[in-house]
Amino acid sequence: INNSPQFPNTESSMLGMVGGGQLGRMFVHEAQALGFKVMVLEPEVGSPAAHAADAHVQAAYDDAAGLQQLADACSSFTTEFENVPAASLAKLAETGFVAPSADCVSIAQDRIEEKAFFTRCAPQTGILPAPHAILRTADDLNHVSADLFPGILKTARMGYDGKGQVRVKSIEELRAAFANLNDVVCVLEKMLPLAYEVSVLVARGADGQAVVYPIAENVHRDGILFTTTVPSPHVSAEAALKTQNAALKLIADINYVGVLCIEFFVLQDGSVVVNEMAPRPHNSGHYTIDACVTSQFAQQVRAMARLPLGDVRQHSPCVMLNILGDIWFDGTTEQDKERQPAWDKVLALPSAHLHLYGKAEARRARKMGHITFIAPTLEQAQDEMRQACEILG
Ligand code: ADP
Ligand code: MG
Repeated sequence: INNSPQFPNTESSMLGMVGGGQLGRMFVHEAQALGFKVMVLEPEVGSPAAHAADAHVQAAYDDAAGLQQLADACSSFTTEFENVPAASLAKLAETGFVAPSADCVSIAQDRIEEKAFFTRCAPQTGILPAPHAILRTADDLNHVSADLFPGILKTARMGYDGKGQVRVKSIEELRAAFANLNDVVCVLEKMLPLAYEVSVLVARGADGQAVVYPIAENVHRDGILFTTTVPSPHVSAEAALKTQNAALKLIADINYVGVLCIEFFVLQDGSVVVNEMAPRPHNSGHYTIDACVTSQFAQQVRAMARLPLGDVRQHSPCVMLNILGDIWFDGTTEQDKERQPAWDKVLALPSAHLHLYGKAEARRARKMGHITFIAPTLEQAQDEMRQACEILG
């Protein structure tokens, strides 16, 4: 007998996931909770998602035989990171339902296309990206406006967690930084006076129904997300409504299916700028696992399986703290000695929910896990987050 649940719009109860990172792992957990199985396509052995998945195809993201194996076993496909070749998603779309689509993912893969998309939608959203210049060749440097300094040079493709970014104060520094990046296509963005940063998580079903989560406020350290706090301590009701409505307009404009996260800057004068978007569940949405009726990963499962989306209601105030590999190292010794973080002490904090991704090796600046602090009041959650920071050092 087949005791897997039968869902009306998926021929196979095996869902196909391209990518094996922690986002894939948390997706697997939610998919399995709904009775689905998951097959992960990932070249690395022992990846966080493959550990948890029902099946692992060990092959490159663009490997024809690997994609065929995925296509043979599954009828719905998704991805967990934006740098999967869009052509692989297009290939899977020949035999099944892919959410988000290759076209949507490819916009988010390229900062130039992404900014063009935000600019095109600005008449409806009322929100523009940061002033910027596109740098394709060294000659483009001769036409850069002085207004863009100080600025941030960002590679157009493949950047994440602040990687591929250089802060430049002058045209001379820009020339040096551009040459250093081997003349890859870049965007120079004006450095803006940020008051705070927020992200808006939205999800859209195959039927076009969309839901938007509460605004999340994000603090970054060295370009990497450090904490997410929800509700946002700073956002005004006006800015919240504006960014949430913008996110709903953007997701509908490209007929997106699945979870999408859009990052915004709120400037010191109160104005809002759109930064970038991620075509998948997002680190700033991890709080939804413990603090919302439906997590971002469950939402992704529902969208790709063409099921109704779930309630986004947040039932508890919450702070999410990222755990980076740095805490495994004792920076005070010359050898940078390895140590074990005191998880027992962290778990003694009543509001702490620990999530570790099962990565084989801790490295500095590598995301190893996160802790969500779920408390009756935001103050208690914040207080216990600070205690955890002290415990972990
Ligand atoms: P990534 O893809 O690495 O997340 P982002 O473009 O989001 O790259 O930049 C990472 C962080 O750097 C942002 O969250 C923000 O803190 C800072 N940052 C990026 N662009 C700007 C800008 N134009 N002005 C001020 N700060 C910025
Ligand atoms: Mg970002």
